[in-house]
Amino acid sequence: MDTPQHSPALAVTVQPVRYVPALINGVSAAIPCEPWCRVDHIAANPRYIEDVTHSSDPVRLDLAAGTTPLTLVEARLSADPASDRPASVFVEEHSTGQGRYLDADAADAFADQLDAFAASFRAMAAQLRGDR
Ligand SMILES: [Zn+2]
Repeated sequence: MDTPQHSPALAVTVQPVRYVPALINGVSAAIPCEPWCRVDHIAANPRYIEDVTHSSDPVRLDLAAGTTPLTLVEARLSADPASDRPASVFVEEHSTGQGRYLDADAADAFADQLDAFAASFRAMAAQLRGDR
């Protein structure tokens, strides 16, 4: 008897669409939402469905020196289904509110810049201490 040949299984992962409760101009609805989204779509209650956006919790770079922390930069995942822009990392310079949307490769490139900045910054601290 022949043993059936099995081809290797394709590793396909399909993420189920997550629907969450929302209010759109006061009307209850279930809307698709990103798995990382932390927006309260009930409280947001936009006037139009086109105004629904998705956002993760932010990460912040704060300068803790001084009497009050100074937020320098903030980043969060962001998606605006009504726009042509795919989900992105939004990076915002905190004092001006100016920001940029980065795709994954650009986000990695910026993270590389942060790593280089941190290394230079540590070198300055070492110089202050008189370390070599
Ligand atoms: Zn959402």
